[in-house]
Amino acid sequence: MRTTRIAYSHRLNAGKYHSLTEQARRLGRVRSEVWQRYGSAGGAGLTDREVRDRWLAEGIHHRFGVLANAWKETVRDAMADIAAARESAKTQVRRAIRRRTGDQAEQRRLFGLLKADRWVDDPYLSRQMRSHWRRGHNRTHNQIVVRADQHHTRADEGGRLWLAVPGLVRRQMVRIPLNTTVAPTGTLRLILRGDRVEIHYQIDAATMKTSQRPCGTATLGVDKGYTEALTDSDGNHHGDRLGQLLTAESDRIKERNRRRAKLRSIANTAARRGDQAKAERIATINLGTIKRNRQAARHRGRVRTEIFTAVHQVVDKAAVVVAEDLTKTFTGRKQFGRNTNRRLAAWTKGVTAQALKDVSERRGSALVHVNAAYTSQVCHRCGCFGRRAGDRLHCTLCGVVWQADVNAAINVLRRHGDPDITLRTPHRAVRQIVQARADRHRSRLPLPDSSPVQRAESESSDVLSNEQ
Ligand SMILES: [Zn+2]
Repeated sequence: MRTTRIAYSHRLNAGKYHSLTEQARRLGRVRSEVWQRYGSAGGAGLTDREVRDRWLAEGIHHRFGVLANAWKETVRDAMADIAAARESAKTQVRRAIRRRTGDQAEQRRLFGLLKADRWVDDPYLSRQMRSHWRRGHNRTHNQIVVRADQHHTRADEGGRLWLAVPGLVRRQMVRIPLNTTVAPTGTLRLILRGDRVEIHYQIDAATMKTSQRPCGTATLGVDKGYTEALTDSDGNHHGDRLGQLLTAESDRIKERNRRRAKLRSIANTAARRGDQAKAERIATINLGTIKRNRQAARHRGRVRTEIFTAVHQVVDKAAVVVAEDLTKTFTGRKQFGRNTNRRLAAWTKGVTAQALKDVSERRGSALVHVNAAYTSQVCHRCGCFGRRAGDRLHCTLCGVVWQADVNAAINVLRRHGDPDITLRTPHRAVRQIVQARADRHRSRLPLPDSSPVQRAESESSDVLSNEQ
C-alpha cells in the first residue's frame, strides 16, 4: 500500500522556475503526441517500451528539445494515463455485457477478449469499446516526471534541503530549495503551480504512524453527508466541520467570481476605449491565478484532513465498514459545469471514497460496498418509505422522526448480507423489493386506530434505543 506525499519549493528563484516551466511545457507536447497517437483503439496492446523504441527508430523524439530520460519517463507516464482511461471504459463495457447476455460461457468469452485487449476481434466488443472509450486529450503541461536515479538531495550548512533534478541541458542540474527536512524518494512528479514547485512522491504507507493504529472490532454502516463527512450506524457523526468548510469555500468562490466579472468588464471597456495599458494592468494584477490556485490548494488540504480524520474515527471502532460505493456514481467534473456547489460535492465524494479505501487498507479493516438505493428514504424499523424534511425522516407508519443520516447508516449496515439486494440489483428492482417488504410489514400490524401511535422525539439517544 503506497500513499502520496507532497513537498514544496521554498523561495525558488524566478530563473529556475521559468526553466522548469519551459521543460514542463515541452514535455506537455510529448504527452499530447502520445495521446494523439495512442490515446484510442489504435494504441491498444502497445507497451511504453515499444512506443519508445518506435520513437527512437523514427526520430520523433528530436522534435521536443528535451533530454532522453525526461521524454522517456513522460511517455511512460502518459501511457499509464491512457491505460487508466481504457480500464475505466472496460468497466462500463463489462456492465453492458452483463445486460446483454445471461449466458455464462458467452460472458466469459467476452470478458476474456476484453482483458487481453483483443476486443477488435469481436464486432460487438469493438462497438462497445468505441462508444465508451472516447479519445482523450492531454491537458497536462505543467509536470515533469523524474526517475528515482535521476535526482538527489543535499542539505546546506543551514540545514536546508536542496533537491537537484535534470534541466534542459545535460549535466546541468536545477537545484530546488525545499520547505521540508524529509528528502523526497523514488519517482518524483514535479508540478509547477503559482511560482512554486510541488514535489509529489510515494511512500510506503506501512511506515506511517497511522498504519500502526489498530482498527476496532465492530461492524458499522456509514452514510456520507454534506454537513458531516460521515455518520455511522451507532448514531455518531464524524468530521462535523465539513459543511462549514464547503459552504465557506463556495461563498468565497461566488463572491470572488462576482468581483472578477466586474473587473473584467472594466478592463474590456478600457480596451474598447483604446486604453490597452489599463486593460493589461487589470489582467496581470487583478485577474491572475496564482493566489486563486494557492487558496484552492489550501482549501483542498483542509477538506482532506477533515475527511481522513472522520474515517480514522470510524475505523477506531470498526473492523468492518459497510458503505455505498461512492466511486460508482462518480460522473466526472465536466457535467457540473460552473455550478460551484455541485462541483465541490462531487469532489468531496471522491475524497471520501479514497479515504475509506486508503485507511481501511492501511489499518487492516475491511471495506464492504453495498447497494445503497433507497437507504436514505425508508424507515429502518418498519421498512416503509418515509417523508424527508431537511435532516429528518418522518415515518408515517411508526410515527417516528429519525435523524435522516443515522437512519440511512443503519439501512446501509443491513444491506450487508441482505439476501435479495446485492450490489448489482438494479435500482427499480430494489424499489420493488423494498415496497414488497413494507407491504408485508404493514399487513401484520393491527389497524392504526386500535393502538395508540408511539411518538418519539428525534433525540439521537431515543432513536438509537429503539434500535436493538
Ligand atoms: Zn417506520
